[in-house]
Amino acid sequence: MTYKTFKINTSSKDKAASVLMIYTGGTLGMVYDNRSKSLVPFDFEQILVNVPEMERLSFELTILALPEAIDSSNIKPTHWVELAQIIRDNFTEYDAFVVLHGTDTMAYTASALSFLLENLSKPVILTGAQLPIGIARTDARENLITALEIASAQIDGRPIIPEVAIYFNSFLLRGNRAKKKESSQFNAFRSENYPNLAEVGVTIEYNHPYIKPFRPDLSLALHDNLDENVVILKLFPGINEKIVHNILNIEGLKGVVMETFGAGNTMTDEWFLNELKAANDRGIVIFNVSQCDGGKVLQGHYQTSSKLSKIGVVSGSDITTEAAITKMMYLFGRETNHEKVKFLLEQPICGEMTV
Ligand code: ASP
Repeated sequence: MTYKTFKINTSSKDKAASVLMIYTGGTLGMVYDNRSKSLVPFDFEQILVNVPEMERLSFELTILALPEAIDSSNIKPTHWVELAQIIRDNFTEYDAFVVLHGTDTMAYTASALSFLLENLSKPVILTGAQLPIGIARTDARENLITALEIASAQIDGRPIIPEVAIYFNSFLLRGNRAKKKESSQFNAFRSENYPNLAEVGVTIEYNHPYIKPFRPDLSLALHDNLDENVVILKLFPGINEKIVHNILNIEGLKGVVMETFGAGNTMTDEWFLNELKAANDRGIVIFNVSQCDGGKVLQGHYQTSSKLSKIGVVSGSDITTEAAITKMMYLFGRETNHEKVKFLLEQPICGEMTV
């Protein structure tokens, strides 16, 4: 597929970094349409009208807009593969990538990209906005300009952030550790179980010990297969046998992210444990992720989780649900042996969990 790209006439000097900004849609790219009296995506080639500050940037900037701007609630694994392919195809030409994306599913996209782009050694910074760029009080301008600054930031010719991250409202978060936590205020994203990669005020303070090491010796490997035969099963007091049975017996199901209580606890009813065991014995992989955003799963810490490891349930430690479900899609996309998938689920692959 060939994409339409256009260059912004920035004040870049010789040897300045080059950034490719990929526009996918979301609230950020919207303006108020007087005729329809609603928010509509604007022609991204008009970006300079809304963010004239871009002309003052000191690096090269090229924009690629996907053929159709989408609300990120409509994002699909095929879009994640498309984004990863665009990054791979342009990897040698650009020093860094910024992805403009709706906030609703940004944490899923960031997680998926972190798995699909193995051995990534350049910045891929996702950002978006809570208010459209065409609104005077918008947060889009600051998020966009700072995400670009962070993407282009280098020390001695090396990128400072050689990984997938989300920049939003003064904080840079590891992409596969972030969660959308707020739908009205500007502080939409947080990462409870991993420190911020940078905090932005008058200066940008990078948290170097927590940023993925730069490894240019490893070459980028693209994974382009995601398996969608997975489900999220959120437990709640009162969930009944029929519901659990039917979910675990969905035709073709390969993996379940089971959102459990607290430190990974579940009901201990015999029917429930029998359903989990039967599913595990049928080859379905069950990944235990906590409903709490902070803290981790400790299978066996309470009596209410002590049988899970014996059944074969895999502990998700401190992984987010967004990273867990995309990790499962990625692993089932590359492995057929479910024991291998279980083994790999338990290991951090690209900083998505701490064990
Ligand atoms: N529904 C929008 C989206 O995720 C919300 C946003 O961009 O903030 O695309």
